[in-house]
Amino acid sequence: MALSRGLRCCQRVLAWVPVVIITLVVLWSYYAYVCELCLVTLTNPVEQVAYLIVFHVIFVLFVWTYWKSVFTLPLQPDKKFHMSYADKERYENEERPEVQRQILVEIARKLPVYTRTGNGAIRFCDRCQLIKPDRCHHCSVCAMCVLKMDHHCPWVNNCVGFSNYKFFLLFLMYSLLYCMYIAATVFKYVIKYWTDELTNGRSKFHVLFLLFVAVMFFLSLMFLFGYHCWLISRNRSTLEAFSAPVFQNGPDKNGFNLGFVKNLQQVFGEEKKLWLLPIVSGKGDGHSFPMRTLCEAQNPLLANEEQWGDDGLDEENHGYHEGSSLAIEMET
Ligand SMILES: [Zn+2]
Ligand SMILES: [Zn+2]
Repeated sequence: MALSRGLRCCQRVLAWVPVVIITLVVLWSYYAYVCELCLVTLTNPVEQVAYLIVFHVIFVLFVWTYWKSVFTLPLQPDKKFHMSYADKERYENEERPEVQRQILVEIARKLPVYTRTGNGAIRFCDRCQLIKPDRCHHCSVCAMCVLKMDHHCPWVNNCVGFSNYKFFLLFLMYSLLYCMYIAATVFKYVIKYWTDELTNGRSKFHVLFLLFVAVMFFLSLMFLFGYHCWLISRNRSTLEAFSAPVFQNGPDKNGFNLGFVKNLQQVFGEEKKLWLLPIVSGKGDGHSFPMRTLCEAQNPLLANEEQWGDDGLDEENHGYHEGSSLAIEMET
């Protein structure tokens, strides 16, 4: 017992290692850019001030979005999705699986759940003892059911889901911008050091390394960001891209696809001025989501848009390779 508690404790501490690595790299990049490039290498004061102002604006947004991605707690389903004591007893005392299934159907009747398991049953988490809301999945790392779970990301040591998906996307975007800005402004001085026009040995090391690290991070994050842009345009989570959500009529990978603009608004909201800031602005409460089929039922005009942006491509087969090492599918 004490051993397993000790192991869990070790696991929790080790899980912070990637976050510490990223933090150290970011702190070093700050030092290298501000001190070694701007204060030591640059000599023109106008250039120094301009470089530093733009750098700090991007740096603040980048750190702010990273902070929010790491420390925004994943949202768990509301109390009404948890089994009542009486229902739990009835469910556990029942040995016939088909009757257990029926009990879940009865409980779910009062809840806004439209997705099902692969064999058409109500999605139930026996560890959390709750009916899973649509798009909710159990994360074995966080040991809880997470609303609109996208994936568990070790680089932020957090579940990316309904509560922080916008922050995670902005974090990817600002990290790309940060890398791009560093690479673009440092490049000229790398050439100068290379051609021995500048000779400060210590700054040379930092400036050359800045360019190398910025390009490396840019290349690896570019694919992940591109993949999430594509997912958001289809209103799909990473888990749903791997396995299409199942509705009463069967699986439908476009079940939550409302069209490009509405899909964006689901995550970013309607207030455009909040889109680029890590402030909650998305729509809904994470428990239920507008669905394409319901839209069609309410609005016959939408019923003709069967081919929406799909272009007949088999999307499950492409798009996500590079990012997959970052996105660990934790649902069991
Ligand atoms: Zn669960
Ligand atoms: Zn998790």
